[in-house]
Amino acid sequence: MNTIDNFNFKDKKALIRVDFNVPLDDSFEVTDATRIVSAKPTVIKVLEDGGSCVLMSHLGRPKGAQAEFSLKHIIGTIEDIYGVEVKFANDCIGEEAIVKANDLKPGEILLLENLRFHEEETKGDEDFAKQLSQLGDIYVNDAFGTAHRAHASTTIVAKFFPESKCFGYLLAKEIESIKKVLEDGEKPVLAVLGGAKVSSKITIIENILDKVDHLIIGGGMTFTFIKAMGGNVGDSICENDKLDLALDIMKKAKEKNVSIHLPTDVVAADAFSNDANTQIVNVEHIPDGWQGLDAGPETLVQFDKVVKSCKTILWNGPLGVFEMENFAKGTIALGHSIAQATKDGAFSLVGGGDSVAAVKEFGFEDKVSYVSTGGGAMLESLEGKTLPGIDAILQA
Ligand code: AMP
Repeated sequence: MNTIDNFNFKDKKALIRVDFNVPLDDSFEVTDATRIVSAKPTVIKVLEDGGSCVLMSHLGRPKGAQAEFSLKHIIGTIEDIYGVEVKFANDCIGEEAIVKANDLKPGEILLLENLRFHEEETKGDEDFAKQLSQLGDIYVNDAFGTAHRAHASTTIVAKFFPESKCFGYLLAKEIESIKKVLEDGEKPVLAVLGGAKVSSKITIIENILDKVDHLIIGGGMTFTFIKAMGGNVGDSICENDKLDLALDIMKKAKEKNVSIHLPTDVVAADAFSNDANTQIVNVEHIPDGWQGLDAGPETLVQFDKVVKSCKTILWNGPLGVFEMENFAKGTIALGHSIAQATKDGAFSLVGGGDSVAAVKEFGFEDKVSYVSTGGGAMLESLEGKTLPGIDAILQA
């Protein structure tokens, strides 16, 4: 893979696309610096080689140059985490940025103002990308979170560095982890797909059926499958226009020798509320007026066995409404099963949206092999799409 390790940055300026789209509180303090920490190895490698870094990122979704979305707010946090003074250019293109980039000495960092203060960024404007390209000698993409967007700084800019472009460590790790699961994972390979709706996961399911040996379907998706097979799902979330699709998935799975595992019992509630009355019921006999909001105990024993029998595990989507304490048990139990399987030697990747939030909230982050940093980018990778930001580095 074309990673940053293929380059020596001595006396070179690295133009690095990072993802510093971090959450800020009302006083513009960074409340979660994970993304800044994640880009550190890449930045430090360049500095230790004797090079300098020009860092570019977006922050939020500004309409023009709105002060509240300025990257100035995060300078102090970057300095604390990287232990290096950070210079700042008030515009990501133009005279000031060029002068400040040219003045950089080995070991120094320049942060550019929010890329999205220019609408040309998200439009993938070629002239804007060209102006960005003048700020560095080698282009490094380390922003997985935006790799699925053909924006100027994530994709278009790469064409101005035909011989000198590469992946940063974070992006390389994301690519490797996905490959390890979807292409060369040790068998048996398991995907656990939870979350709310079949419709939002259908492309993932279709892509994954060619890659896995086992597929656990949980969360709200369960009920579309159960109803399609003739069960009574009561008031559970169910996509009635996707019943045929669910049956088709079951059929395809059988043809491809993929074992599908669905919950057999659920925690049913008489309202979509943490304070609702609950009962454990068979998933095919949920009474009217009740809805399944979490996987039941029998299901969790069954899922635990499947998880522990597999060597490669992908987890996307919670097993229940984990935001409510009374319906988080299934998601937590699954986390424990995957953590144990990982300890016993399996490779586990958690990616895409809510399962990442769940893993962090329940303390499994360090107990799985890799937690992806990109929601939409991970989902598109799992759908089998080629991400433009990755493709741009791979193209000759
Ligand atoms: P997704 O973004 O598709 O991964 O869906 C995540 C959401 O699915 C979370 O907000 C969960 O609360 C929700 N969810 C999981 N299980 C259920 C369920 N049984 N009924 C309704 N929502 C659910």
